[in-house]
Amino acid sequence: MKTETRLLRAEPANDKGFSSLAVPVTRASTIVFPTCDAFERRYEQFYDGYTYGLYGTPTSRTLEARISELYAAEYCLCLPSGQSATALALSALLKAGDRVLVPTSAYGSTRTFCTEVLASFGVEVALYDPTIASGIGALIDDRTRVVVVESPGSNTMEIQDIPAIVQAAHASGGRVLADNTWASALHCNPLDLGADIVMEALSKHAGGHADVLIGALVTRDEVLFRRLKDVSRLMGLGVSADDASLVLRGLQTMPLRLEREGTSALTLAHWLAARPEVARVLHPALPGDPGHILWQRDFQGASGLFSVELAPQYQDCTSVFVDALRVFRIGASWGSTHSIVTPQSAFRLTAAPGSTPGKFIRFSIGLEPVEDLQADIEAALMSLSAGTVPGAQERVVHQRELQKEE
Ligand SMILES: *Cc1c(COP(=O)(O)O)cnc(C)c1O
Repeated sequence: MKTETRLLRAEPANDKGFSSLAVPVTRASTIVFPTCDAFERRYEQFYDGYTYGLYGTPTSRTLEARISELYAAEYCLCLPSGQSATALALSALLKAGDRVLVPTSAYGSTRTFCTEVLASFGVEVALYDPTIASGIGALIDDRTRVVVVESPGSNTMEIQDIPAIVQAAHASGGRVLADNTWASALHCNPLDLGADIVMEALSKHAGGHADVLIGALVTRDEVLFRRLKDVSRLMGLGVSADDASLVLRGLQTMPLRLEREGTSALTLAHWLAARPEVARVLHPALPGDPGHILWQRDFQGASGLFSVELAPQYQDCTSVFVDALRVFRIGASWGSTHSIVTPQSAFRLTAAPGSTPGKFIRFSIGLEPVEDLQADIEAALMSLSAGTVPGAQERVVHQRELQKEE
């Protein structure tokens, strides 16, 4: 055999005696088979074996097994992002003439996927009040195939009565898709509350370091799982082994990170609620929160994500406040080691004008000591009331200094 041919071989070195604590990264597009017969029968193992790199590798299957286990479910399908997971689930379950219900509080792109894409394919989309509970029965007809729930809502943090919604949806044969990204499997299991499919954006808590995108669909229903898997193949959706291995690494510290973030967030939420510059803190673990009773019933803990609305006289200065923060970085995602702040406006939040206030600030609490975070917020609040807000230029310089310190 010539050198060129030898160099193309894929046989790994003998791994006898090798045992590592890391899950191996198994990259593949082509998967090879020993015989024609095995190749021709490869789709027999499509759902749980290996046929093509896009449809699963040992690394992605390991991640799917971990996530299934966390939800006490039999089936998990990982996809390239949380958004692709939601879009796939809805596309796999709905067809022209069907009706889907989406809470106004849902993740923006979930809502827009329904109102723009599904609607253009002939699916009727109805937005509903997330606090509707069993009242949703009035919106459900026999064309309603899917009800989306997201508890708490991405920005406005409404807790939904998932069991009541499930009961109404199932009564007319509809399915419930639950976006559980806020809580993760550690703090809530919507499958136990009756939901048919859970979507969790593993890009958030599980990945945990703002450097990887993966979404998971989890179910206990084999027929549903097969449908999701079939459509994912036809849409060409799969995850890379490298990305899956990053999420597997993140899972190892997820419980510790969530505990720390949740504790810090609650400390800050209590403190902020007593500040004169703040009108409202939206955090379901606060005893006065409208969703608190349901949160206590259905959740085992809180994550580090909550929102704040400034007092009316400061509403117009919301961006000024956000610009004055130093430790918090401005961005849209959450669940990472770094604390992130997101300015939000009502236009993205609700269907009904006037039902929620104009501007919110969403905090995603990271692993910085809570004292640093509190001091950062306090300084920004003080400059707000003193009317002395440092300019954007100063922020840029300051962040360069911070990076140098790192
Ligand atoms: C981030 C997020 C998504 C989408 O996840 P990506 O991996 O960023 O596509 C969906 N739902 C919620 C609630 C999210 O926070």
